[in-house]
Amino acid sequence: RQEEYRTLRDRPSVTADGHPVSLLMNAGLLVDLPQVDQSGAAGIGLFRTELQFMIAATFPRAEAQERLYRSVLDAAAGRPVTFRTLDIGGDKVLPYFRNAPDEENPALGWRAMRLALDRPGLLRTQVRALLKAASGRELRLMLPMVTELHEIDQARALIMREVKHLSRFGHGLPLTLRIGAMLEVPSLLFDLDGLMEKVDFVSIGSNDLFQFMYAADRGNSRVADRFETLSPTFLRALKSIADAAARHETPLTLCGEIAGRPLEALALAALGITTLSMSPAAIGPVKAAILKTDMAALRAAIADPLENGSTGADIRNIIREYAEAHA
Ligand code: PEP
Ligand code: MG
Repeated sequence: RQEEYRTLRDRPSVTADGHPVSLLMNAGLLVDLPQVDQSGAAGIGLFRTELQFMIAATFPRAEAQERLYRSVLDAAAGRPVTFRTLDIGGDKVLPYFRNAPDEENPALGWRAMRLALDRPGLLRTQVRALLKAASGRELRLMLPMVTELHEIDQARALIMREVKHLSRFGHGLPLTLRIGAMLEVPSLLFDLDGLMEKVDFVSIGSNDLFQFMYAADRGNSRVADRFETLSPTFLRALKSIADAAARHETPLTLCGEIAGRPLEALALAALGITTLSMSPAAIGPVKAAILKTDMAALRAAIADPLENGSTGADIRNIIREYAEAHA
């Protein structure tokens, strides 16, 4: 199997009926970077910048941040890299920063964008380091845990102030700057058109979106696997996102763990989510599944079950049978 995946590394990722499905990798540390070449990833769809902060003994200095970001862009060698701005809080704890000592529900607490907008010094330093590191190249910035659209406006204003500041001091700037949002809080599902209009790209954080939609703590093994990620309620939510992105021609990615599971990845592609970011080890198995799949046939096979009261287990069986028949 490993051997089979290795031989697939340089094969384009395209379904049997000719639809490209772009496979990117998730990363967060220097040690992940050799995987960009080894995995055959088309780029880095999610760079979790908070990991550098989580393994440090104190806040990494601006220079250290800039150095890491530059190494990431160098390793990607022109392939797209999406840097997520700091996603601290919830399950991502900094030992030297007690962001909220007595939160009863850290996942619902003062975290990610909420913290970044309340303590803009942290975000400002990071954005400046990213802008400098990407001088002369493309910079893609992604905002985590967006809950309301005005947070995007606030973050964009902060980012543009840093751009102005750097250019006033004669620093080189990125050739292009794209600002996107993660869709991982269900409130955004009810203003998809507003969201799609506001950003340059959207990435679905399915780990958190699932956690919040099903009110099931992703870190609690009692409940984490209790609900089926292929259940029609979840897939219909994902499809409404894909449809809105298509209406507005807003590039859409999914970067949660389900992207790296072959049956889930097939379902996502069938729903129209065709850029998937996953752990590098998952790229081979997912690509092997994509290559064998007639996407139109799979889409037709799940269309009715999505609407007519089937369970997630039913849908999983349909996709599994389909995949086994074409293995
Ligand atoms: C997610 O929530 O799906 C995601 C990709 O972000 P993280 O797992 O880092 O919260
Ligand atoms: Mg998340």
